[in-house]
Amino acid sequence: MGQRSRLRRCPACRTTLSRDANPRRRYCSPACVARAYRARKRFGAIYKQVLEAGQRLVTGDDPEIGIICPGCGRWIYPGGRGLRADARHCSPTCRQRDYRRRRRERSS
Ligand SMILES: [Zn+2]
Ligand SMILES: [Zn+2]
Repeated sequence: MGQRSRLRRCPACRTTLSRDANPRRRYCSPACVARAYRARKRFGAIYKQVLEAGQRLVTGDDPEIGIICPGCGRWIYPGGRGLRADARHCSPTCRQRDYRRRRRERSS
C-alpha cells in the first residue's frame, strides 16, 4: 500500500502545512495554537452542551430535546433557554410543585 501523504491544514487559519512538518504538529505557528486555544475556551461551554445533547440523541437516553414540564404542562427545552441540560422542570417553583404532588400521590 503506497502511503499518500495527505495535505494537512492548520485548523486555525487553513494554511497548508508542509509535508515534512512534524506529524504531531497541527498548527502552522504558535500564534495559531494560541488563537485556537482561546477560541476553544470561549466556545468550550457551548460546545460541551451541544456535544451532550448530541450524545443523548445518539444513545437514546433522551430522544426528545423538548419535554413537557410536569409542573405547568408547558414545553421546555433542557440545555437551552436558560435551563440546565438535565432540567426536567421549567423553574424551581414547578420542580417543587411536582415533587410535592408526587409525594402526595405516593402517600395516598
Ligand atoms: Zn495557522
Ligand atoms: Zn413549569
